[in-house]
Amino acid sequence: MAAEATRRSFAVRLAAATCAVAWVPGAAWAAARVEETDETAVALGYKHDTKKVDAKKYPKHAATQRCNNCGLWQGAAADPWAGCAMFGRKHIAAEGWCMAWVQKPG
Ligand code: SF4
Repeated sequence: MAAEATRRSFAVRLAAATCAVAWVPGAAWAAARVEETDETAVALGYKHDTKKVDAKKYPKHAATQRCNNCGLWQGAAADPWAGCAMFGRKHIAAEGWCMAWVQKPG
């Protein structure tokens, strides 16, 4: 009987510990954001703000080109950050830009 109570007590404590470890506030689950200094970002000339793109280096860039009107943007139009096929799991800024920008169809 005592062994059964000990096992049950252990199981309860284990479940509580598992829940404590598994529960993390929602913000902590948010995807990591691309840094402009990340290797892929540098290679693609990515900037968080399309207005800060070097016009001499990227003469085909237009100020109207932003991540959230790019065909590779994976978020909704109003999302401030979302995924992009070029950056794997990391999120990029809606107002960002990189040299892989393509007009969103439609
Ligand atoms: Fe932004 Fe498009 Fe470049 Fe992705 S491919 S970072 S959505 S401009």
